[in-house]
Amino acid sequence: MTQGSETSAKVERTDAEWRALLTPEQYNVLRQKGTERPYTGALTQNHETGEYMCAGCGAVLFASDAKFESGCGWPSFYIPKDSKAIAEHEDVSFGMRRVEVTCARCGGHLGHVFPDGPKPTGLRYCINSASLTFEHK
Ligand code: FE
Repeated sequence: MTQGSETSAKVERTDAEWRALLTPEQYNVLRQKGTERPYTGALTQNHETGEYMCAGCGAVLFASDAKFESGCGWPSFYIPKDSKAIAEHEDVSFGMRRVEVTCARCGGHLGHVFPDGPKPTGLRYCINSASLTFEHK
């Protein structure tokens, strides 16, 4: 194991390793691009002050001050903590044109970003609770 650089080093694991490491819900979202049912996620209604990390690799993805009540049933943020922590990809599955959001460090699927968020960005990062862990700060 190499020490250091928490944000720059990519995390790569085999499918078997991810299955062993993650809960079934986390695996379904992060590694199979699943979507949890709306209003079921543990962090959707979370209003604590702190940071949201990738449940796959621990990368810091979002801060509580960027979380807002979108009413969509999933944790919603208007900006990532660090834009480099997030990767965006065009997603044309299910007959829709959307922008998929993944963790830049481990490639885990997080959710999608939509252009209907609040100021100042106008963006809504609609993120599955199962792809996140929360740390109170
Ligand atoms: Fe990750």
